Amino acid sequence: MTSAPGQLLRLQDLDSSIDALEHKREHLPERAAVAEVSQELVALRHLAAERTSELRQLDERRSKIEAELAAADERRRTVAGRLYAAQTTSARDLAAMQAETETLASKVSGLEDEILGLLEAADAASGALVDLEASVEPAERSLSATRAELARAEEVIDGELLALREEREAAAGDVPAVLLGRYEALRGRLGGVAVARVVARRCSGCHLTLSSMELERVRRAGDELETCEQCSRILVVEPPGQASSPQ
Ligand SMILES: [Zn+2]
Repeated sequence: MTSAPGQLLRLQDLDSSIDALEHKREHLPERAAVAEVSQELVALRHLAAERTSELRQLDERRSKIEAELAAADERRRTVAGRLYAAQTTSARDLAAMQAETETLASKVSGLEDEILGLLEAADAASGALVDLEASVEPAERSLSATRAELARAEEVIDGELLALREEREAAAGDVPAVLLGRYEALRGRLGGVAVARVVARRCSGCHLTLSSMELERVRRAGDELETCEQCSRILVVEPPGQASSPQ
């Protein structure tokens, strides 16, 4: 029959192993990789959406200018037609019509240049969009591959956790409820470590060196719980030759 401190030490070792595995699971490199690839993908999609919106705006702008161009061109033709047919018009009217034709011609040419510029901008945006879309698919593949790696790594740890939790449950079942309550309260208060081994006369929880008298008291504790006067952890001296692996 194991002593009360021995039972609690067993429980502590299991809980520490479970805590360490949970920490490992939370900080798997695969998890960071998934986050990184996800971010890349989000950034790519964001850029692609920006280019798409830019293309739409360029297109709208071009339609507007094309309509303006068509109107100016039509007006120019009308005026040019009248100018051509106007033998009877006064010299002043002719000069005015000539001036308008010239203004319209220059406007048409300006609008044509603008349309050309918009087409070039649309070409550039469209090329950029194609490149971005080409990068999205590999990034998506990479994300699902990385997610699968994460799931595999989690599965391994979950298997280990399951076994440890079963073992922990069995170990806790042997501990009286009052003792268990005290253990849990200490664990909650002391960063998960309620029971500390005494190693080379020192409390492994806070490294306080025990006096010979204190050490002797812990050694002869039996079912009593002796605690570290500095960190309040329950102290356990393992019998020689029975030292199990430290946490
Ligand atoms: Zn201590």
